Amino acid sequence: GKETRLRVVLRVRPLTCSETRRGDRRVVHSLGDGTVHVSAARQDATFGFSAVFDAGDSQEAVFEGSGMRQLVELAIDGFSCTVFAFGQTGSGKTYTLMGPLGQSETPPASPALLGLMQRSFACLLEQSRSRGSDLALSASYLEIYNEQVRDLLSPGPSCTLPLRWSKTRGFYVENQLSVDFESLEAIASLLLQALNPPLAGSQRRRTSAHALNRHSSRSHALLTIHIRSRNVSIACPSRQGTLCFVDLAGSERVKETGSSGELSVEANNINRSLLALGHCISMLAKPRGKRTHIPYRDSKLTRLLARSLGGSGITLMVACISPSSRCLSETLSTLHYASRARRVTTRP
Ligand code: ADP
Ligand code: MG
Repeated sequence: GKETRLRVVLRVRPLTCSETRRGDRRVVHSLGDGTVHVSAARQDATFGFSAVFDAGDSQEAVFEGSGMRQLVELAIDGFSCTVFAFGQTGSGKTYTLMGPLGQSETPPASPALLGLMQRSFACLLEQSRSRGSDLALSASYLEIYNEQVRDLLSPGPSCTLPLRWSKTRGFYVENQLSVDFESLEAIASLLLQALNPPLAGSQRRRTSAHALNRHSSRSHALLTIHIRSRNVSIACPSRQGTLCFVDLAGSERVKETGSSGELSVEANNINRSLLALGHCISMLAKPRGKRTHIPYRDSKLTRLLARSLGGSGITLMVACISPSSRCLSETLSTLHYASRARRVTTRP
């Protein structure tokens, strides 16, 4: 029940080939020691985080240096753990969580590129094996799109699921599927299927990676691993932990002009949940005595994250930014948002 601060780490991705080709400048520099410096014409600022990962840092370095391994261990011990990736579209959120898997239909060629998710699964399964298969693992995978919750694991046409609240469970999604898994292959293929769903009808076509990315930047995806210890004894009472991975929709402001009809509904809904998340974080960042009501009910996303943010959860936030001069204003807004989140505390 001790107050614990949200752990916030920053990842700066490398300049992409096209950014380099068009001559973008790097305006973000890691100074070591968890600080990062942003320098541009009239903006000059330094920010500090629990850790900063730069263009040269590998996926493994992010897994080991972010505290992700400890988070997995805490989830095994029965805590509710959440890691969420935040930042504008194209800043590296999905890459950090899943590696290139998020962009293609085949597993990545090199294991070195595997993201936080796959590394955590490996860690979980390793722990389970070393405990004599003591851990029962299952996964559920939801997306929030246009303020509707959908089950990404349901095999049929996607239907929306109701979000409910109860005194004992807090906010929860009714009727969500939960699929057991016992191997890396099983959980990897579950993810691939969810990311490349066969379309309705007889034609088993797959959505293109491009369309997928466009869609994923407008939805929030939550993968939850439920961990239950099977061997229950007096010395070792029943424990049930969760490990939740949240890939948030892109944080960029959708320009008022140009988006109309369906798109603007989408944009408003993205802004609504991210704004609600921002409000909750600002409120939670105040000292406990000075807090007023935390507006979790303002969006589906904040309802689902209520426990991770303000309750009994343990949370790691990975803020992702591009180093490019062209992304400066979004980068600064992500850095301010992430700095605020560092003041949020929970009582695990
Ligand atoms: P987001 O999910 O935030 O929209 P992505 O994860 O899709 O962004 O990343 C955008 C592009 O940048 C992708 O082509 C991805 O492969 C590349 N990328 C992101 N982070 C890195 C990194 N750390 N190293 C190499 N390439 C990266
Ligand atoms: Mg993405």
